[in-house]
Amino acid sequence: MLDADFFRRWMAAATASVNREAERLTALDSPIGDADHGSNLQRGFTAVATALEKEAPETPGAILVLAGRQLISTVGGASGPLYGTLLRRTGKALGDAPEVSEAQLAEALRAGVDGVMALGGAAPGDKTMIDALVPAVDALGDGFAAARAAAEEGAVATTPLQARKGRASYLGARSIGHQDPGATSSALLIAGLEEAAAG
Ligand code: ADP
Ligand code: MG
Ligand code: MG
Repeated sequence: MLDADFFRRWMAAATASVNREAERLTALDSPIGDADHGSNLQRGFTAVATALEKEAPETPGAILVLAGRQLISTVGGASGPLYGTLLRRTGKALGDAPEVSEAQLAEALRAGVDGVMALGGAAPGDKTMIDALVPAVDALGDGFAAARAAAEEGAVATTPLQARKGRASYLGARSIGHQDPGATSSALLIAGLEEAAAG
């Protein structure tokens, strides 16, 4: 079972990897965006870490709802409301249980990803974070390592795609040949699950 500490470790791992990879995320957002994805997520996850420490939510659901709310209110880019919705919806789906199973987390994350697709209107193949998140959720039944691998493959597979959503879509065919920054950061977020499971 996954307790509140698991979810705190997940958010801490995500914050650490966003800080570590911020320059790379911003560099990916340079040719097909406005070169702010790394700094957007750094600001957001710093706020998540601060809020989790200050408010000390005690259940998996409350931790993710608080984290999502911070991302929505502090990230002034498309990715903030989208990642915020992902975590908030996932948290709401977990309810107020003190511990959840991996299967419950997989089901809740599915609801979160559906929320992102409803909000942003992106489908798989549109060259967005959805291209990492959907394969990750599909693979979650096979464990956190399988989900990480699927998310990483999904992120790499955005390179030959033409963007149909978000800022990169303004470039039309010129968006082809660049890996999507949001799919790349989604792979970091999913990798955090495996790190959290390792303790
Ligand atoms: P902004 O484009 O506002 O500067 P960011 O640079 O932080 O925001 O995030 C860009 C990322 O957000 C993209 O790489 C893409 O993965 C994701 N994104 C943008 N629009 C959408 C959308 N409608 N649905 C899903 N993901 C999206
Ligand atoms: Mg950007
Ligand atoms: Mg921006």
